Amino acid sequence: MPGWKGSNRRHELPKDWPAIVIFVLRRDHHRCQHIREDTGRKCGRHANQVDHIIRPADGGTDHPSNLQALCEWHHQRKSSSEGGTASAIARRARRDVATPLHPGLIDPPRPDPAAPF
Ligand SMILES: [Zn+2]
Repeated sequence: MPGWKGSNRRHELPKDWPAIVIFVLRRDHHRCQHIREDTGRKCGRHANQVDHIIRPADGGTDHPSNLQALCEWHHQRKSSSEGGTASAIARRARRDVATPLHPGLIDPPRPDPAAPF
């Protein structure tokens, strides 16, 4: 699937994001904060990524209280299990499909150019 990865990531990071990243990595001692399911302990590997604990799409903020240091592997794993773009696209597709058309409508409604959105 060319071009799907990250293409839907529209969350705009704050201007001081680089400073926030440094802050979070230092706060977490550059150690991955992922809790391993097998040991119940933190991964603890070298972390060079900062992750939103609650995704911005779900209302999470860019505040350090919602951020954690992760190693590259766990960050990738979390991002792919969250399904980011794929689930958003699927949600949109489901919504489109779920919108029933009036049986009398042959063509789908055209957007009104005067509509505010
Ligand atoms: Zn890790």
